[in-house]
Amino acid sequence: MDIRKVIDSIRETEVVSLCQELIRIISVNPPGDELPIAEYVAGILGKAGLEVEIIPHGPGRASLLAVLKSSRKIQPLLYSAHLDTVPLGVEKWIHEPFAAVISEGKIWGRGAADMKGGLAALIVTAMELARSGLPLRGDLILALTAGEEVDSLGATAIASRTELGPAQAVIIPEPSDNDIYIAEKGALWLELSTQGKTAHGAMPELGENAVLMMVDLIAELRKLQIPFKEHPMLGGFSMSVNTIQGGMKTNVVPDGCVVTVDMRTVPGQSHEAIIIRIKEMIAALSRRNSTFKASVKVTNDRPPVETSPKEAAVGMFAGIVEEVLGERPTPKGVRYYTDATALAPAFKAPMIICGPGDPKLAHQPNENIVIERLLQAVKIYTLTAGRFLI
Ligand SMILES: [Zn+2]
Repeated sequence: MDIRKVIDSIRETEVVSLCQELIRIISVNPPGDELPIAEYVAGILGKAGLEVEIIPHGPGRASLLAVLKSSRKIQPLLYSAHLDTVPLGVEKWIHEPFAAVISEGKIWGRGAADMKGGLAALIVTAMELARSGLPLRGDLILALTAGEEVDSLGATAIASRTELGPAQAVIIPEPSDNDIYIAEKGALWLELSTQGKTAHGAMPELGENAVLMMVDLIAELRKLQIPFKEHPMLGGFSMSVNTIQGGMKTNVVPDGCVVTVDMRTVPGQSHEAIIIRIKEMIAALSRRNSTFKASVKVTNDRPPVETSPKEAAVGMFAGIVEEVLGERPTPKGVRYYTDATALAPAFKAPMIICGPGDPKLAHQPNENIVIERLLQAVKIYTLTAGRFLI
């Protein structure tokens, strides 16, 4: 049997009911609660013949590693989906968000697009391949992670398992309408604090006002030139001051103020160099004003990731997408980050994002997945596994 025959045996009802089941197992993050869905998937994949390992991350939290074993003559292929979803907003949904209602050719529910649809497609791919009995020359690895929506807890744990790699490719079914993304921006989140001295609000000259220090700090930050080179798929560097907190009472001079800054970087930029620049900026402010005191803390540090469009794995994957959809996709970049920031460097592999969900629906009310796209994704992933591993 060849791999084209395997895709003929894919059954829509199996993919759809599995996707519904996954939506019904709530894994909203925070708090996470990925353990029940990890156990459910481990049960299915274990029965299908994969080697499964639950990776615990404390109460209620877990990732899952599942491997379809091969003769290990060639490098493995790694698929990675996250098990968690974002919470519901305040807006009322058309269909109950955890009921996985089918309507208008779509399955509706939290996580349908991001990314339980993609997760279901990967599980069916692994089951189909196991059922086919086709001998594999490289392992098929499913890294199903906890915490992607917050801190990539699971991907970080799996990235430390260096004995599994290197891999031929890391493929991630984040919502892309089955289009291909091969570059993502990095993220550098900073917490900047100023430290002052309290005094009675009627005698401000006796205190040191941390809020006013922050005003100066933000003004300098906005003037700061952070060098970068425009990226053909990602565009440029961005910086946004997004939260501010300071002071206690109207009649007390504030001794503390904290802002958080979200920086999105492009390949070629060094996060370390940016942090040094910020520290130099603070030092210069302190030289100008002896009472100025500030510090910087890094709260999230993910490098930008990019795969060259000329990479063989990208060409092969784009060819398979063309075979299934009838149109060859042009690889693009995305501004958000994914588990690829941890997995692609760890597995020394080109990264490709391609998933059946609509990217515009991720994290939105009335999230849904088009069943036809879901089936296309199973075909794409199955053909890919076959072509890379047989
Ligand atoms: Zn996602």
